[in-house]
Amino acid sequence: MHSSQPKIIIAIDGFSSCGKSTLARQVAKELHYTYIDSGAMYRAVTLEAIRRNLVDGVQPDEQALSTLLDEIQIDFHISKTTGLQEIWLNGKNVEEEIRDIEVSDSVSIISKQEVVRTKLVFLQRRLGKSKGIVMDGRDIGTVVFPDAELKIFMTADESIRAKRRYDELIAKGMEVKLESIQKNIHFRDYIDQTREISPLKKADDAIELDNSFLSIEETVQQVIDLFHQKLRELNV
Ligand code: C5P
Repeated sequence: MHSSQPKIIIAIDGFSSCGKSTLARQVAKELHYTYIDSGAMYRAVTLEAIRRNLVDGVQPDEQALSTLLDEIQIDFHISKTTGLQEIWLNGKNVEEEIRDIEVSDSVSIISKQEVVRTKLVFLQRRLGKSKGIVMDGRDIGTVVFPDAELKIFMTADESIRAKRRYDELIAKGMEVKLESIQKNIHFRDYIDQTREISPLKKADDAIELDNSFLSIEETVQQVIDLFHQKLRELNV
């Protein structure tokens, strides 16, 4: 895509481990857009909350979380070795650490908190100010960018999602059990869908995409086609 062409916002929401990040990253690359992994931001806050021993109880202390949010610094940098975007917390690369099962187990509890959502939504809107972004998450099309020009809502069969996630972590050399991955996915989907603030749900104007039986390439192509169709509709 030529840099002088108009830039829009592409919001990709959906269930856990649907391949949203892979899709969003590849679509962004093809369109020369910026990719933002909003889940990584919730994971970074959770990692810091774990470090501060704030996640032992069911309900994390709101005041302590508020202090944490005032004190942390979250940035995205492009890795010189992989060319992929990575998240940094307080000046340190935590891209790998935020994928630990300990973080996955607590992230949905931390993400339910109003103080956390308010801060991260503010940061996400700032990152999308100049458009030309693909952001993936749970509430991007409903809350963060309700006016996003293109909204995708991804789904896939739960056991297929668990198996994909399992294969991905095993390939990274992590020791994991398929059963606990499926449990975690199920748990996170439940909390994400039933929380009071910004629950995971399909925006009315989002296009649903079930990729249970689609390859990554096919899914990317579908979104690129939808992007071009949208530009034609917008007459830009
Ligand atoms: O995308 P990922 O699976 O890494 O997200 C981790 C968790 O962060 C989700 O299960 C959800 O609880 C939370 N999240 C959220 N809103 C977003 C992105 C992620 O609540 N926009």
